[in-house]
Formats: sequence, structure tokens, C-alpha cells
Amino acid sequence: MNQCIFCKIVRGEIPSRKVYEDEDIFAFDDINPLAPVHFMIIPKIHLPSLAEADPSHQAVLGKMLAMAGTLARSQGLGDGFRSIINTGRIGRQEVYHLHLHILGGPEPLGAMMGK
Ligand code: 5GP
Ligand code: ZN
Repeated sequence: MNQCIFCKIVRGEIPSRKVYEDEDIFAFDDINPLAPVHFMIIPKIHLPSLAEADPSHQAVLGKMLAMAGTLARSQGLGDGFRSIINTGRIGRQEVYHLHLHILGGPEPLGAMMGK
């Protein structure tokens, strides 16, 4: 068993507020939300980051994106949302299990990036 915290969340060894789960992906609220709604969609397989992705991951990566709108609407984000994948040192990734952040709220979010 690996020690990755998101793999532990998938296995139920660390509690989370689950948004969605199927055989390929898992979605759960961010523990430190940066918007009124902030959850993450992750593959169940341990893929460290988008930098390690290759065509063998096409199906699960496609599913993460293909489910984003449905899951966002299920959390009240019917009028849009922001999707972010941080990758590696330059992308300031903190947890090395690929995750797609979904953020939104009743009001428009701030500008995409600070300077
Ligand atoms: P990153 O900077 O890698 O894109 O984002 C990692 C995210 O994971 C952060 O927003 C952080 O709040 C979240 N996070 C870190 N540890 C945990 C945890 O144990 N549970 C949950 N639900 N989120 C976590
Ligand atoms: Zn993992």
C-alpha cells in the first residue's frame, strides 16, 4: 500500500467529504477551500501528475473532464466554474496524485492568476 494521501482518501483510510465515486474516479471537497465550492476530481489509480500522463491514461483523464460539468452542477455550480490542474514545481503542485480542482460560488471568481 502506498502512503499517498489521495490514495488513502480513495481507500477510505483518510476521511473526506465525497462528492462522487465510480470505478475510475473519485471526487471530494478540498480541506482548505479557496472558493465557496471547491472540490477535486482524481483518478483512482496513482498518477503523480499531468507530467507523467501518457496515452494509456486517456480514458480516465477524459472521464475526469467529461464528469466535471455534471459534478459541478451537483454542487450548485450551474453558472460556471474554474478548473485547475497544478503540475510540478513550477505549477506549485503540493500533492503528487493528479487532481483537477473545481472552484466556484455564487459570485464570479477573482482574476485567473495574481501577477
Ligand atoms: P495542489 O496545490 O497540489 O494542486 O493542491 C492540493 C490540494 O489538496 C490543496 O488545495 C489542499 O488543500 C488539498 N489537500 C491536502 N491534503 C488534503 C486532505 O487530507 N484532504 C483534503 N480533502 N484535501 C487536502
Ligand atoms: Zn496516490
